[in-house]
Amino acid sequence: MSAEIALTQKGERWQRSGHPWIYLDDLDRPDVSLSGQIVPVKGSQGKPLGLAFFNAQSKIGLRWVAQDPERSVDRNFWAGRLDRALKLRERLVRDSDAYRLISSEADGFPGLIVDRYGSVLVLQSHCLGMEKILPIVIDLLKERIQPTAIVARNDSHVRTLEGLPLEKKMLFGPRPDRLQVQEGEIKYLVDVWEGHKTGLYLDQRENRLHARDYARGRVLDVFAYQGAFALQVASRAEEVLAVEDSENAAAHLKENLSLNGLTNVRVERANAFDRLRELEKAEETFDLVILDPPAFAKAKQEIQGAWRGYREINLRALKILKPEGVLFTCSCSYQITDEIFSEILREASRDAKRPVRLLEIRTQSKDHPILMTHPESKYLKGFVLEVE
Ligand code: SAH
Repeated sequence: MSAEIALTQKGERWQRSGHPWIYLDDLDRPDVSLSGQIVPVKGSQGKPLGLAFFNAQSKIGLRWVAQDPERSVDRNFWAGRLDRALKLRERLVRDSDAYRLISSEADGFPGLIVDRYGSVLVLQSHCLGMEKILPIVIDLLKERIQPTAIVARNDSHVRTLEGLPLEKKMLFGPRPDRLQVQEGEIKYLVDVWEGHKTGLYLDQRENRLHARDYARGRVLDVFAYQGAFALQVASRAEEVLAVEDSENAAAHLKENLSLNGLTNVRVERANAFDRLRELEKAEETFDLVILDPPAFAKAKQEIQGAWRGYREINLRALKILKPEGVLFTCSCSYQITDEIFSEILREASRDAKRPVRLLEIRTQSKDHPILMTHPESKYLKGFVLEVE
């Protein structure tokens, strides 16, 4: 059997859409012994289409590496892609030493994420083939960035879908203690070993800095995690109330407050749904409410339930806004598209019986680029609404 993989006719039609994946079902009797390798891919009539990582254990059978079938995928090839990724960040990332350096498919590194926290890099790989070339990527990262440590946070359950083990380990250097990073005028303590994602929600970096423009008077930050939004807006507000139900995150938030010498942020450990209802009952009002919940819909079947959840928190938030108050409301569920989120917010505004104006629609920070032919790479929404 030849060391190449053919697409079915359906797979070939999908390939023409430019999507960076081909599903396993759309491969024509692939040789499973090639799993983990970079393979030449052919169309149903034998036309060479390019090179891709193959994984027979994943529903995502192929992830494109190069469109040119003759391309040699060596150290130089990855160096070119890394340099392009670094250049984009040099141009676009301001005032922060914590940001995403490599954002998987959108940067030409299928299934690989590399985040930078000052001198420490944190990596997540979600692709069997990428895992095999990691030694080259690590070597290049060391050469270009001279990090003090590289951590593998390979504990995301997505890896099980690729047949990869869950693990956290040091790839280079000593295991770091908690790190301190800077974002605008704010310092955060970051635990890259235990924190959510790789330590911080880096995808919200630009939105946090931007939310400062809307901050005044009383601010409510709901689903606060370690307080990144609350900290960013505090110097522009009289007082900030941060609501978070995880004990660890709330404790970390308080440490971040001391680190920054902020005294106008109150931290409450509570369930956001209950607390929003109580605040409404108590007739408390705010000039700015920030909602940044976890993904309520992780799969298509969860959209209906998520819809109810998003509508509920947004309805309550709209009700407790002062006249001319602003709601900065986010959803990181890929399944909840801009259109669905608009519809949810339309329902919430109708139920709140308050005219609402949409001021802007935002998305993830530019260091998490959106590949136009990869809809899955756009997942974060941030709608900014103003009530009458
Ligand atoms: N805004 C944060 C990220 C928020 S992540 C930032 O920019 O860093 C979502 C947070 O919501 C998590 O910390 C999670 O612990 C918290 N959370 C999840 N469900 C909750 C609930 N029902 N009530 C309160 N907090 C909740």
